[in-house]
Amino acid sequence: MARVYNFSAGPSMLPEEVLKTAAAEMLEYGQTGQSVMEMSHRSKEYQAIFDRAVADLREIMNIPDDYEVLFLQGGASTQFAMIPLNLMNKNGKADYIITGQWANKAYKEAARYGKAREVASSKDKIFSYIPKTTAADFDPEADYVHICMNNTIYGTKYHQLPDTGDVPLVADISSCILSEPIDVTKFGMLYAGAQKNVAPAGVTIVIIRKDLIGNAMDITPTMLNYQTHADNGSMFNTPPCYAIYIAGLTFKWIKKMGGLTEIKKVNEKKAKILYDFLDNSKLFKGTVVPEDRSLMNVPFVTGDEELDAKFVAEAKKAGFVNIKGHRSVGGMRASIYNAMPVEGVEKLVEFMKKFEEENA
Ligand SMILES: *Cc1c(COP(=O)(O)O)cnc(C)c1O
Repeated sequence: MARVYNFSAGPSMLPEEVLKTAAAEMLEYGQTGQSVMEMSHRSKEYQAIFDRAVADLREIMNIPDDYEVLFLQGGASTQFAMIPLNLMNKNGKADYIITGQWANKAYKEAARYGKAREVASSKDKIFSYIPKTTAADFDPEADYVHICMNNTIYGTKYHQLPDTGDVPLVADISSCILSEPIDVTKFGMLYAGAQKNVAPAGVTIVIIRKDLIGNAMDITPTMLNYQTHADNGSMFNTPPCYAIYIAGLTFKWIKKMGGLTEIKKVNEKKAKILYDFLDNSKLFKGTVVPEDRSLMNVPFVTGDEELDAKFVAEAKKAGFVNIKGHRSVGGMRASIYNAMPVEGVEKLVEFMKKFEEENA
């Protein structure tokens, strides 16, 4: 067996240890005589898996008791509608910062339910930076301010949160969840699809301040109301049981690694290896302004589309897969989520050096 280094933006690599545990427990979980996939979500065995996952996530992210943790379905994209349906119901307006395609999709969806306002955008430079804002830019009557914390496609990240005054901040953290410590109390709500840094696709994590639940618009479908899921411990209907189980294994792995402070150190080390190389390369260059660079998604180009394509093809042959950039940026993108080992980045850089010597 030869596992590749998978630089996919998502679904992406999972820690090998998580996969091995899942494999070992595939046919029989504990003494239950069945796979987790086959278990009733109402069984006490499954409830224990579920409760452990919630408790571990709370511990790892230091989530205070006045926040609800929900495991939902529909991906981050369903949150684009759930957020306005549930939260945009006091003054009927919300502020959005447009830092890329995901932020823009969230904004457009919100505009269907109320007055969504674009406060700032970095579209003028293909989203290669995070636009600066001050408290005065935000409407104090907005029901919330929405940001995309880490922009998966463009490789930018908020290193400093916008000051939104008393307006709750809502953040899409799909591609940076669990990559470093985060102060949950700075947010009204955080959400993330699991398939970037946590688990297979299928579970969406929502962390929401309890006082923001319970004010949904009348038109809100039962399944899209946070109250429904908060009242039923995320088991109003069948949850994505297996994805939650894998998420739980990932949480355990993070604890074993020493928690998010240690995870961050490793992520910084990996990102530094790659950015240092890009900053000194004669052939490759990063596309993002240095101060807003993501720790997780690193887009880069040679400046020559044919050479980019050649690099992607040769990289694949050498075992570095899914490194082609998003079609809107072109070039390459290395997504280096938690599960990518340091060695994977070191070997990629070695390969890039060799390619540079041969093609510069
Ligand atoms: C991948 C991604 C999404 C979309 O997630 P789905 O779970 O496929 O809906 C949204 N936002 C960000 C930041 C992402 O990286």
